[in-house]
Amino acid sequence: MRTITLIILHCSGTPEGKRLTFKDCKKDHIQQRKFKDIGYHYYIERDGKLYIGRPLEEVGAHCKLHNTHSIGICYEGGLDENGEAKDTRTAAQRDTLLDLLIRLKQQFPKALIFGHNEFDRTKNCPSFDAEEYRTIFALKDIISLE
Ligand SMILES: [Zn+2]
Repeated sequence: MRTITLIILHCSGTPEGKRLTFKDCKKDHIQQRKFKDIGYHYYIERDGKLYIGRPLEEVGAHCKLHNTHSIGICYEGGLDENGEAKDTRTAAQRDTLLDLLIRLKQQFPKALIFGHNEFDRTKNCPSFDAEEYRTIFALKDIISLE
């Protein structure tokens, strides 16, 4: 297994009312962007269903300069109906994302969680502040020490 130091969160940049399924995203990355596979390791559709993208052992294609040591997770959404950045995570997507992060933090305890926008300030992706998850895991660490 490669060394994982980062878990990077993304949105698909899909407006409210529109769909970009895992299959659509994978097709876009392969056919339009000429990637060998979907760039993300995980994809969460609006209904919360989790899809496995690129195998974890493989370097993804989701965050310039930070792919080598990271895992990329994308949720379907991230824009309002006018195409402006908006946290559109559904309750089901939040549940799936948190479960996934708990699992990944068990497997890679030192991996830090960031949003794509924290590495590229020109982007709004994932349309929420990943500090939310850093806070959750910081609290979990404190509780487990007690
Ligand atoms: Zn992104």
